[in-house]
Amino acid sequence: MRITRTVKYEAERVRGFGREIMAVPGCETLLSCIQCGTCSGTCPLSVYMELSPRQVMALVRADFKDEVLRSNSIWLCASCYGCTVECPREIRITDIMYALKQRAIRDGVYPKRFPIPILAKEFTAMVRSKGRVTETLLVMRLFMKANLMAVLSSWRQGIGLIRTGRFVLKHERIQRRGELETMLAAAARDKEGS
Ligand code: SF4
Ligand code: SF4
Repeated sequence: MRITRTVKYEAERVRGFGREIMAVPGCETLLSCIQCGTCSGTCPLSVYMELSPRQVMALVRADFKDEVLRSNSIWLCASCYGCTVECPREIRITDIMYALKQRAIRDGVYPKRFPIPILAKEFTAMVRSKGRVTETLLVMRLFMKANLMAVLSSWRQGIGLIRTGRFVLKHERIQRRGELETMLAAAARDKEGS
């Protein structure tokens, strides 16, 4: 349901939040947003979002961190890049949505049992530890943490997928995992330095 509250209070602002998001590479252009609403009109999922993409852009810029991070909008964004292509100011709205998702996961403020942040966390953890994703395990972990009943009710489908080779049970991992760790450490150092 779209959030319609229009009164904003100074006390709700988290000073510096907008600047932090704009410091993420690709997000610097947010300052030039003219609030034309083209992004909201383009977005196929805007109608289901608590805050439209235009509202998200305005609230980030104005430091309303909690309102943005607690909304379902950033998680419903399907990264289709439609808004980014159409924005007259060439603002990389999709990248801003990504930055907000990362920030929400870091701060642990996403809606509990909401599948998308759980999937993102499990996916990242698996890639970090094995270098590859084992889909069966990923789906199992997602369902266990988001919706246990879904596992129980989907077991027939799961068996079918395993039988047809669509799901493999073998744990996948890369060789020379140390090289992956070196790359991740370098990326982390690069991020800290930027
Ligand atoms: S389309 Fe671009 S300029 Fe217009 S409201 Fe969205 S982000 Fe701002
Ligand atoms: S990238 Fe996200 S916000 Fe932009 S149009 Fe697609 S779903 Fe909507």
